[in-house]
Amino acid sequence: MNHTANSKGFYGNFGGAFIPEMLFPNIDELKRVYLQTINEPSFQKELKVLLNDFVGRPSPLYYSRNLSEKHSANIYLKREDLNHTGAHKINNTLGQILLAKRLGKKRIIAETGAGQHGVATATVCALMNMECIVYMGKVDTERQMPNVERMKLLGATVVPVTSGSQTLKDATNEAIRDWINNPENTHYIIGSVVGPHPYPEIVTLFQAVISKEIKEQVKEKTGKEYPDYVIACVGGGSNAAGAFYHFIDTDVKLIAVEAAGLGLQSGKSAATTALGQPGILHGSKTLLMQTEDGQVVEPHSISAGLDYPGIGPLHAHLFETGKAKFLYVTDEEAINAGLELTRTEGIIPALESAHALSALNQLTFKKDDIVVINLSGRGDKDMLTYLEHYKNI
Ligand SMILES: *Cc1c(COP(=O)(O)O)cnc(C)c1O
Repeated sequence: MNHTANSKGFYGNFGGAFIPEMLFPNIDELKRVYLQTINEPSFQKELKVLLNDFVGRPSPLYYSRNLSEKHSANIYLKREDLNHTGAHKINNTLGQILLAKRLGKKRIIAETGAGQHGVATATVCALMNMECIVYMGKVDTERQMPNVERMKLLGATVVPVTSGSQTLKDATNEAIRDWINNPENTHYIIGSVVGPHPYPEIVTLFQAVISKEIKEQVKEKTGKEYPDYVIACVGGGSNAAGAFYHFIDTDVKLIAVEAAGLGLQSGKSAATTALGQPGILHGSKTLLMQTEDGQVVEPHSISAGLDYPGIGPLHAHLFETGKAKFLYVTDEEAINAGLELTRTEGIIPALESAHALSALNQLTFKKDDIVVINLSGRGDKDMLTYLEHYKNI
């Protein structure tokens, strides 16, 4: 199984770098230096110290007694929710800011939807004293006001984007436009395993620390080399890519969970592998939800982090080859799984992660199976949504 991109940035049929000519110098520079840079011992050392002491890694692998009893298996939660800033996103932004520093860049740009990636980017920019500009759809700036304020407090400039549907895909377009206009001094920190090569690979490598730790922790806690299952939610796919990475060439069953929204056939969903067709989105060939004439279909999910019309090229490849099994969880099923974990374990999960938890209900296990669920983030940001639904129960 080929889980690193080939020299042109393809995972099987998906990936590549479909970019305007103006972007070639930036992408070319990044392609030339990123692998060498991130493998330098001094880079690795600086990253490790910050992952440990700034982010709080390694994140614990927590044995959930209640879920284990309910599903008759050994169920562990990988606690990315305990990271600084509350999710896995900081693993990537921290790696990329160190990369930007080595590239001599002084100015950082990013796109954000719900604001989680924007906050993680603003955080590392404050740490490294770099200028930070975050593009965010105007609609999103209005519905995610607390994250906008957090970014501003951290010193970032938040630019509301008024083109298109004024949401994530428009913010991404605007960030790419900025990068074209500022090729010399600017690094673009993309938020998931999407975009033109080498971004999907860079983000995967920075998130792969998750599966590296899972492997060590499973061995330490159970004596076994590998878990039987690893389950993760997929928006663009960065937490799943990180949780899967060191298991792709093994027999570990990889379960990717997408947001079915109001239902697969409802027209309001973000289940790209169920509904999408091959096409080009944000610089890579991948699966995306589109109309017959190739216009991007607006996605819907109750969780802002899964509300993306595409999926990273590695995941498109894992789907096409059957190496990962894709499951679909509705808004309502996710809310219920989130509330269940809250009441049985005292952990309020992000609504994105709640999708991964709900997938347990679609699987049957053997009694000694070791099942790891990547708990990608905490649910503080989702409080209002939980409360609305809790009242309705
Ligand atoms: C952003 C986010 C996601 C979705 O992004 P991926 O790139 O698919 O991981 C999932 N969980 C949380 C908590 C997030 O903040």
